[in-house]
Amino acid sequence: MTRQQLGYPPGEIGEFGGEWHSIIHAADRERMLGAVEAHFRGETPAYECEFRVRHKNGHWIWLLSRGKVVERDAFGIAVRMAGTHMDLSRRKAAEAQVQRSAEMLKRTGELAHIGGWELDLATSRVDWTEQVYRIHELEPGTMPSIENAIDFYAPEAQPLIRAAVEAGAAHGTPWDLELPFVTAKGNPRWVRAQGIAVIEDGKPVRLLGAFQDITEKKTIVLEMHRLNEQLTRLSTTDALTEVGNRRMFDQTLKTEWARAARRSEPVGLLMIDIDHFKEYNDHYGHPSGDVCLRQVARMVGQAMRRGGELVARYGGEEFALLLPGADLDEARRAAERCAQIVGDAKIEHRASATSAWLTISIGVASQVAAAGVDCGMLVEIADAALYRAKRCGRARIEY
Ligand code: GH3
Ligand code: MG
Ligand code: MG
Repeated sequence: MTRQQLGYPPGEIGEFGGEWHSIIHAADRERMLGAVEAHFRGETPAYECEFRVRHKNGHWIWLLSRGKVVERDAFGIAVRMAGTHMDLSRRKAAEAQVQRSAEMLKRTGELAHIGGWELDLATSRVDWTEQVYRIHELEPGTMPSIENAIDFYAPEAQPLIRAAVEAGAAHGTPWDLELPFVTAKGNPRWVRAQGIAVIEDGKPVRLLGAFQDITEKKTIVLEMHRLNEQLTRLSTTDALTEVGNRRMFDQTLKTEWARAARRSEPVGLLMIDIDHFKEYNDHYGHPSGDVCLRQVARMVGQAMRRGGELVARYGGEEFALLLPGADLDEARRAAERCAQIVGDAKIEHRASATSAWLTISIGVASQVAAAGVDCGMLVEIADAALYRAKRCGRARIEY
């Protein structure tokens, strides 16, 4: 770098000292002169300094200036110095670009709660970005081991992340997991852990990945699941008796019938109706009628024996008990259990023309399911049996 290259004609500025000072950036001037003088005093074997000089056109150029005293007088005073000025503008621009990129990565990482990490497989050295420390609620700088890092995951998540890291290290398999996590301060979080392997000569040498705090999103998703489940439960449950409602009954009958059809199995059904319930309401009042309906619903439930069975409120004071897999004999026994439980409860019913206690009438049906046969047929048969039970004097089981 010469005076001409800086745009100055010969003679306009000298080499060191003199007019040079006038084109050195004010912020660098003292440092540069200090370095020169230190060398002149013999404190450094050579002089070296990076500083900015002003181009004739007004812009600044970074120089790396190096020099050495090549001659001193009898008193040891420097009289001649030789050296070079190297243009660092390009390197400085690249450094500034790297710094801007790093800054951008840091800022966007903060925004998205996302950080990066790296594991050197040869040395087991783990490196985290600042954001990864922040998600862990740890002070930056403490170097974690891979085992320490895994310890931050919730106990049930640790085998998953460990297996992912091991598969990544052994075979280069990438991973992308959403896992529960506990910070150094004990705060529960959800994190998304992603990793890939860097392969050299066909073998994984490093693992690196992204690490993101997704607690906010996960909380919303979990809450949505909960609300969805609650909604499904509400839409399939009878509010008064808390057994399945008519919609639940219709759905379950359909699916159980289709399942039984594939295996040529029977489906049993009881239609259960409280006797003289209008009189019960008239005599004891509607609120007592409601209590009675809840009791009967619970008692019908007690007659169930197998998983997959369903008690539902079919209508006002009528219940259905669906018995997948039950033949007519098993269905009849279930009906006898129902009648027995209700009889044993001895719910007073002074206005009943049939008994001093509350009674029920039950229609029993069981059919071997077949594809192409509508399940409504089963309901019709049970209904017809219930009608017969009513006609034959109530407090009876008909099939
Ligand atoms: P049967 O022996 O022939 O079945 O006579 P029943 O009086 O039981 O039958 P009916 O169909 O004449 O009357 C049913 C009664 O059930 C009438 C209705 O007020 C009552 N009911 C229906 N839903 C409810 C309810 O949610 N709460 C109460 N308390 N009563 C209800
Ligand atoms: Mg009735
Ligand atoms: Mg009825």
